[in-house]
Amino acid sequence: MDERENPYTGTNYAWVRARCLGGKTNIWGRLALRLSDYDLKAKDRDGYGENWPISYSDIAPYYDKVDLYLGIMGVKENLPYLPDSIFQRPQKLNCAEVTLKQSLQKMGRVVTQYRAGVTSEGLKHNKYRSRCYGRGACERKGGCDIHAAFDSPTGLIYPAMDTGNLTLRTNSVAREITIDPNTGKASGVHFVDSQTMKDYRVKAKVVVVAASTLESARLLLLSKSQTHPNGIGNSSGHVGHNFCEHIMGPGVAGRAKDLVGKPSTLDDGRPGGFYLTRFRNLSEKHPKFIRGYGFEGGSGCQMFPSGAEVPGFGQSFKEEIRKNYGAYIGMGAFGEVLSRYENYVDLDPAVKDKWGVPALRFHYKFGDNEHKMAADMKETAQEMFEAAGFEIMYVNDRVLTEGWSIHELGTARMGSDPKTSVLNQFEQSHDVKNLFVVDGSAFVNASCQNPTWTIMALCWRSCDYLADEMKKGNL
Ligand SMILES: Cc1cc2nc3c(=O)[nH]c(=O)nc-3n(C[C@H](O)[C@H](O)[C@H](O)COP(=O)(O)OP(=O)(O)OC[C@H]3O[C@@H](n4cnc5c(N)ncnc54)[C@H](O)[C@@H]3O)c2cc1C
Ligand code: SF4
Repeated sequence: MDERENPYTGTNYAWVRARCLGGKTNIWGRLALRLSDYDLKAKDRDGYGENWPISYSDIAPYYDKVDLYLGIMGVKENLPYLPDSIFQRPQKLNCAEVTLKQSLQKMGRVVTQYRAGVTSEGLKHNKYRSRCYGRGACERKGGCDIHAAFDSPTGLIYPAMDTGNLTLRTNSVAREITIDPNTGKASGVHFVDSQTMKDYRVKAKVVVVAASTLESARLLLLSKSQTHPNGIGNSSGHVGHNFCEHIMGPGVAGRAKDLVGKPSTLDDGRPGGFYLTRFRNLSEKHPKFIRGYGFEGGSGCQMFPSGAEVPGFGQSFKEEIRKNYGAYIGMGAFGEVLSRYENYVDLDPAVKDKWGVPALRFHYKFGDNEHKMAADMKETAQEMFEAAGFEIMYVNDRVLTEGWSIHELGTARMGSDPKTSVLNQFEQSHDVKNLFVVDGSAFVNASCQNPTWTIMALCWRSCDYLADEMKKGNL
């Protein structure tokens, strides 16, 4: 998307957006993880923040539905803090990854196959997606062209269109949720055609917002009226606040010495390498920070060899790269950024986008807990590679700019108290009964797990509730 057409202001933030059909799922990394009660009831464990108004048992059936409908690869580990999915056939770990796994077992830490939102066995109910053949360069650019990897268009939107019950209107930029002044309820959506610049208004019995965490908050804030002077659904003043995500950057890269000089292997055609699960603040309490982090990593021969950034030139450089081709291994951490009221977005009073809609303004910084956690990520990364006997090439302690994780969450959090939350447990606005916000906005905290599978499980649960409420005539 063109940043000049869609500006944003305020504190530094790397805001990655995909204004297209299917949004960021067209290019996502596909790591599909569940939350557990360690995340949903984190306040009970360390006293910080708020608990979610739901438990794992409330969403588990919906995680199962998402697994079966969309397909996920992985291996069962029976970890209480990272529940298993209903996995299809997993990909294999390669040599260096197995070495790391075995070495970490001695430290009580778990390396598991990348839990990829990819179907390895095929999905009989979906004609748009094939099973993963594991033979291509599984790069994100352009996505997976046989759609073994989940993306919203082939996974959800085309099948929904086939039912005849979905009308899709692309090139439509929502700028306001309209209100019925008599009832205070949502009456529809005011949008502009991004090509013709013409304004439209569409009426609705129920408005379901899913424009991504930050755009959804922006839309709620834009929808001001006499009944909702701070934006629709914002009587609590929490819309845009409690904004959280993942901190990343620290990590390590090295070489498995026994693989140097070995023949190249076909390691490329797989949707991911490994996931090293959280180990901080589970049974013990870390003295410097709360919550946790996990590592994503991989090894083996890639289409573009890892380590090609090492200095060198000509024949000797090529030999060096070839010699080390399959021996490189690296990993980087993703850690929980605490949800804080002071981290928020609002509307910029002056700057507008191409369609004249006020831009979003960021007031967002990592805090002390995040920086202490990042220091620990670097130390443990190094310690674990050393324990595995890898030759360390570099250790990274640089924290990436806020936003880099592309896992923004929490701007309209759910809760039981309408004074401190925006949505109820079914992602329904406390203030406006016929308004739902079904994306990452509803998260109460970020945990350290990638959020997309949870976004979809919660959305499915909310849609079942919505359908039920409509049948009962409550909406
Ligand atoms: C490179 C990359 C790697 C990632 N890796 C992972 C991963 O490994 N695991 C994981 O769980 N997550 C990952 N993510 C995050 C994941 O993509 C998001 O969590 C997910 O896409 C969120 O879905 P969403 O529908 O809420 O938002 P989006 O995917 O952003 O979709 C929002 C949609 O709303 C539309 N929209 C926005 N504003 C408006 C408006 N005003 N009017 C009309 N339409 C609007 C957009 O066009 C888009 O279609 C990654 C993301 C990226 C970019
Ligand atoms: S390896 Fe990657 S790109 Fe190839 S089919 Fe599997 S998921 Fe798709």
